[in-house]
Amino acid sequence: MKRREFLRKSVLYGSAVIFAPTLLASCAEKQTKQPVTVHHNPHKGKMSLSYFSYELQLRHTFTVATYSRKTTPDVQVRIEYEGYTGHGEASLPPYLGYTTEGTMNFLSKVDLSGFDSPFLLEDILEYVDSIESGQTPAKAAIDIALHDLIGQLTCQPLYALLGLNPDKVLDTSYTIGIDTPDVVREKTLECADMFNILKVKVGYDGDEEMVNTIREVTNLPLVVDANQGWTDRSKALDKICWLQSKGVRMIEQPMPTTMLDDIAWLTQNSPLPVYADESVQRLCDLPKIKGAFTGINIKLMKSTGIREALKMIHYARTEGMHVMLGCMTETSCAVTAAASLSPLADFADLDGNLLISNDLYSGVGLCDGKLCLPQRAGLGLKEE
Ligand SMILES: [Mg+2]
Repeated sequence: MKRREFLRKSVLYGSAVIFAPTLLASCAEKQTKQPVTVHHNPHKGKMSLSYFSYELQLRHTFTVATYSRKTTPDVQVRIEYEGYTGHGEASLPPYLGYTTEGTMNFLSKVDLSGFDSPFLLEDILEYVDSIESGQTPAKAAIDIALHDLIGQLTCQPLYALLGLNPDKVLDTSYTIGIDTPDVVREKTLECADMFNILKVKVGYDGDEEMVNTIREVTNLPLVVDANQGWTDRSKALDKICWLQSKGVRMIEQPMPTTMLDDIAWLTQNSPLPVYADESVQRLCDLPKIKGAFTGINIKLMKSTGIREALKMIHYARTEGMHVMLGCMTETSCAVTAAASLSPLADFADLDGNLLISNDLYSGVGLCDGKLCLPQRAGLGLKEE
């Protein structure tokens, strides 16, 4: 399937409202007979956890300043409870430092038999987090599956569970990977009429040529990610000023995580907002970068999932920081979960499902470049 056809298909899937049969019956019964009353613990039973490895195939070789790859390791998670199945996912791009084997080994240690209900979210996630440090994608997979499950049990889409307005979801940026000028021109032309903002990888020799090539074919706003590629703050500032003149709106992780003082100087002098990505993983990292960045890029695979992502968003807002939601290459499972939080963010970079050719689900879609959340309960996924 050509890239353009694939993208349009994704839009259509995202717009459709298709209920799983069991869920449809359950929801219809609740909606027609009586108002839904959600008790704290309406279902008692046992949760069962299962998982399997699944290699994501990238539609194009993914290249950033420091590496290239054609696949992403991934582990899919299921939590069964009272006839419902919550879906979760751990995406494992190598730079995060987690492996399929390590993720599955961690999941094998998770014993949910001590919990009567997925509604005990805080207790369950605290227990999962205590099993061992790190393993943030595996923890995110469990968090996402539990949220999906609770949404199904209460017959509510995830955004409604979180009290968020689906009309306030954001446009998502779409990443143009590093490539030759001809390929960059072709890729940009293919997607320019389907998105309202594009993302460009910079921070390497030739990045100006890449931006100029994109500007030959579109005037869409750009966001850029240097992936720690600059090490001289004065040169980085010159580059940011040049990027601003090219219609760039923000810059992500301009310098290495170890150069926090230089990043703080750059942020103070930059005409564009500067967002942390590699410099922030979880909530506990936020006090460490206070004052050094304008905003943070939250990714569920770093944050251990939705629940901690919410805490990070509220912390960031309290400190007057901007918020961006990002993702890895992921199936529509994790991308839909992140998209459901987008009413709380300033930027969304949630194109990970569009970058793979073997998505397992349809979920979040696109409507004129804007994320379009399913109306179905939970994550609202439909298996392909
Ligand atoms: Mg980044």
